[in-house]
Amino acid sequence: MTAPIRIALVGIGKIVRTQHVPALAASDAFELVATASPRSTLDGVPAFKSLEELLESGPEIDAVSLCQPPQARFADALVAIEAGKHVMLEKPPTDTLSEAEEIARLTARSDATVFATWHSRFSPAVEPARAWLAGKTLRRMRIEWKEDVRVWHPGQKWIWEAGGFGVFDPGINALSIASAVLPDPLFLQQARLAFPSNCQTPIAADLAFTSGGKPVEAVFDFLQTGPQTWSIWIETEEGGLELSKGGAELAIDGVDQPLPPEAEYPGLYARFAELIASGTSDVDLTPLRLVGDAFLRGERVEAPPFVE
Ligand code: NAP
Repeated sequence: MTAPIRIALVGIGKIVRTQHVPALAASDAFELVATASPRSTLDGVPAFKSLEELLESGPEIDAVSLCQPPQARFADALVAIEAGKHVMLEKPPTDTLSEAEEIARLTARSDATVFATWHSRFSPAVEPARAWLAGKTLRRMRIEWKEDVRVWHPGQKWIWEAGGFGVFDPGINALSIASAVLPDPLFLQQARLAFPSNCQTPIAADLAFTSGGKPVEAVFDFLQTGPQTWSIWIETEEGGLELSKGGAELAIDGVDQPLPPEAEYPGLYARFAELIASGTSDVDLTPLRLVGDAFLRGERVEAPPFVE
């Protein structure tokens, strides 16, 4: 048996506590040996204020998992790649395409593994949906990703700051699924982004894409109360598919499909371990590019101020 990969978590917040820590605890491939975060720590794990401090005076590590807000990820990615560590990036990998492209460029020259993750692609419905769609002819597709930001992102001020993505923070998950399952690439045609008058990022977005010349519409909303919607409907010449609950459920031609239970983060770490073992990397920037296109071409409308 090979020794576990010694890993550090950088940016200790909600997603680390709810997903990364349990996934690492259940993994034989990794051993969590340190954290780096300005203020937060994990019980029983040696803690450092920054990645530089950890690399200088912490325990030996083989890999880092970068879970800070996207605005701060690039700087640490450069430090980690330069130090020759394997790097796993939370989504979105960075908040500009140029930085993400630079990570991809450095990855190609490095012996270490870089994995730019899209956790929703590891939901159980995605691979069966991709397999079912292969070879079929798309007629139309609709995405609705509507959630209550006050429930899912309490106190996360960075989401409303420049580079924080706003409603595209969850919306990019839908685009990561869409770009993984569709046989043809997506092209943004039109976008309408609603910015609260006191925020730098949108709270809602209506997007129109084409894929293989066929319409794909997406509606993102951060003010959905009551039932939450993370659904994709796909109509083809050969039948229809509905992916719901963010990819935890799948129906084909109206028939619910049996799926394994949700295990996105265990899946991410299993994939990271495989990439490390095979000496390869996985950096797909497509979802980030689609969001960039929406910000580039999107029409801006003002929405009422957002008060948490
Ligand atoms: P969060 O709860 O705000 O936690 C982020 C943590 O990063 C903060 O607690 C802060 O720790 C730390 N941090 C801030 N600036 C830093 C810096 N310059 N260097 C290192 N650490 C820094 O946010 P989150 O929800 O965990 O989201 C983090 C990332 O995960 C985002 O990219 C998000 O899109 C992604 N994600 C989130 C979810 C979710 O449901 N929440 C799901 C999937 C993916 P201190 O307390 O130490 O300052």
